[in-house]
Amino acid sequence: MAEKEEAKPELPQIIQLVNLNDITGIKNLLLRGEAKVGETDNNGMTALHHAAYKGYTDICKLLLDHGADINDDSHDHRYSPLHFAALSGNIETVQLLLTSGARTYHTNTLGRTATQMAAFVGNHTVVALINNYLPISDVEYYTQPHGLEKEGKLPSSVSRSLYDLIMQVNLHPVKIALTVEDSKELQNNMESAAAVLNLMCEKESKRSENVNEVICIKFHYLAYVLKTLSKELKKSSEQTTGEKDSSILESIIRKWLRGRTSDGYEEYLEFYIRDAIKAFPYVEMPLFIQLVQNISGSNIGDSWALGVLSGCINGQRAFQDDKECATCGQESKEARKCSKCKYVQYCNRRCQKLHWVIHKKFCDKLFLEYQKREKQREEERLSEEEQKAKDQKLKEDKQKQQADEKDRNVKVEDIIQKQEIMEKKETQEKGEDNLSVQTENVAIT
Ligand SMILES: [Zn+2]
Ligand SMILES: [Zn+2]
Repeated sequence: MAEKEEAKPELPQIIQLVNLNDITGIKNLLLRGEAKVGETDNNGMTALHHAAYKGYTDICKLLLDHGADINDDSHDHRYSPLHFAALSGNIETVQLLLTSGARTYHTNTLGRTATQMAAFVGNHTVVALINNYLPISDVEYYTQPHGLEKEGKLPSSVSRSLYDLIMQVNLHPVKIALTVEDSKELQNNMESAAAVLNLMCEKESKRSENVNEVICIKFHYLAYVLKTLSKELKKSSEQTTGEKDSSILESIIRKWLRGRTSDGYEEYLEFYIRDAIKAFPYVEMPLFIQLVQNISGSNIGDSWALGVLSGCINGQRAFQDDKECATCGQESKEARKCSKCKYVQYCNRRCQKLHWVIHKKFCDKLFLEYQKREKQREEERLSEEEQKAKDQKLKEDKQKQQADEKDRNVKVEDIIQKQEIMEKKETQEKGEDNLSVQTENVAIT
């Protein structure tokens, strides 16, 4: 013990420089060969652990370039750099560590992964980022021929679009359809992309340990939606010729968005998502069982299967800062509201246009609701003002009362004082009388 303390009298210089965010200092130190990237402090933390915890992405990159161990678990409680980055909540740092090969399944001495630590401190964007992460090489693998194959299962031109789709956090089928619409590559290879996703799902489920159940369910779900889109495309190309593909996807998008006549609830979409989940082939998977329980515990209408699925894949959200697009579910800060009802909002014009056919049936009703809400708000504001005026009057009355009382007290004091003076005067006069009587007496005697 004493020996250990002697060996590390103070923080290694490289860690001191990390704490000062002094990247030039660290660079010079490493160039001069005066420090090793693997040096640790008394808790077994390396410079990379410290830099990750502080969210200093550039320093992390420098240390990694100099050979720092990305999965170093010399920390007393076996926290990896990714654990610390997850705690920091810095997205860029987390992203850098992921692309540099950080193991997402590594657990600390409490058995917690980096994702679980991030969820614990409420860094939900980090949770989503880690849960959805996979290296692009996992997709590129399928562009190469394997075994007896003459060519890969996926044209190499599609790998990037498919990878981006997998990394997409928004799971709304409309958003997936829009992503497909934006990528001709993906649109022309939907079936092979779906097949590759199913293979990836199978491969992940058969891992001997540390199965990433989240990504496994996501692979299946994306494959399911792509298959639907592909079927839709085929159907419409048989029916009509010469029409642009994008308008064909529009028909399925409209179907998904179609609301129940009574209240506009997106029933079709709800059933679609439930069917997609039910089709998952690895029914023994704990996360899948949990997912099904969460969905079947609620009736159609009071839970949204998409919300449950998103929560399961992207991590539970404690609260939501930004509003969702009514069409594609995308969250954005600068959403545009329907100018009439001010009720629904969209991430862009394209989404607003897509939604109008459905929304126009409810817009008037929602507008009435908006008016009612505004009226109620106005009434509340007025009654609040009235109450405020009342309170103010009460306060003024009280103040006046207090002032009057004070005034009265002053008057009473005044009277008492005057009385006292008068009394004094009287006794004085009496005394003078007595004295005169006395002197008279003296005179007589
Ligand atoms: Zn949108
Ligand atoms: Zn409207």
